[in-house]
Amino acid sequence: MIGAVDIGGTKIAVGIVNDRGQVLSRKETPTDAKSYAKGLAAIASMLRETAQVARVELTGIGIGSTGPVDPFSGKFGEVDFLPGWRGQNPGADLARMFNVRVALENDADAAALAEAAWGTGKNKSRLIYVTVGTGIGGGIVLDGRLYRGVDGAHPELGHQVIDPTGPRCSCGYQGCWESMAAGPAMVTWLDANAPAEYPHRKHLTARRICELAQQDDAPARQAVKREAYYLGLGLANLINLFTPDVIVLSGSVMKSATLFLDGIRTVICRGCRFVPFEKTEIALASLGEDSNLIGAARVWHDRFRRRDAC
Ligand SMILES: [Zn+2]
Repeated sequence: MIGAVDIGGTKIAVGIVNDRGQVLSRKETPTDAKSYAKGLAAIASMLRETAQVARVELTGIGIGSTGPVDPFSGKFGEVDFLPGWRGQNPGADLARMFNVRVALENDADAAALAEAAWGTGKNKSRLIYVTVGTGIGGGIVLDGRLYRGVDGAHPELGHQVIDPTGPRCSCGYQGCWESMAAGPAMVTWLDANAPAEYPHRKHLTARRICELAQQDDAPARQAVKREAYYLGLGLANLINLFTPDVIVLSGSVMKSATLFLDGIRTVICRGCRFVPFEKTEIALASLGEDSNLIGAARVWHDRFRRRDAC
């Protein structure tokens, strides 16, 4: 029974997850970005409460967190969204408070591990997980192992350049996948390209644009077409580079995936002809709303079950 902790920029979710990836109880609270001490106290009390509700003793604690985080020391790096958490170590602090082993990963890596073990990627050797929401992130799992870069670095799938003449990204480049195809990019594009008298300009969100496209609103349909094109280009790059068995799509924009999938496949077919692209399955994440929480629990299994078995 793993205590799972999902630390995001706006909320922290905590739950108890069994060894089949099922959430037995959960709680959440808004993230206090400025105070690590308050955040840690909230996590500890939610862990105790959810364990009590599920009537279990914690075997360990798994954490998935917005990054950058050091998966081995358990320490936070320069986290833009959580200024008060920089340099803090929830891994070590929770291990001391609960007297159990704690494992921490970037949240997209955590969700990738969960989809590979308990979700869409089960029985697939090479999986790439891509989440499209306010940003684009992801994780890569090869033969059941999380792919890590030098010094354990987490690869930044969202910062591959798709169009060097595109909008400037927070990373320093122009036209990164994230700046071209994350939810806010859809909104910015439609706002800039819809006719002056467009009645839906106020309160536009990616979700609203998808709803309007389904109601046959012409500018929204154009925005969806453009989105599918840029999503497709980034995914085609991943297929050319990795030729994975499956790419698992997740995130708020992918709740409307049916609008994009045909366009994505058209782009992939157009240019991936030197690799067996037709064998890469484009699938949707299957672990639902709690995928980050389930991912956090999977981090613990991935870290310690494997080590214990050696
Ligand atoms: Zn970037």
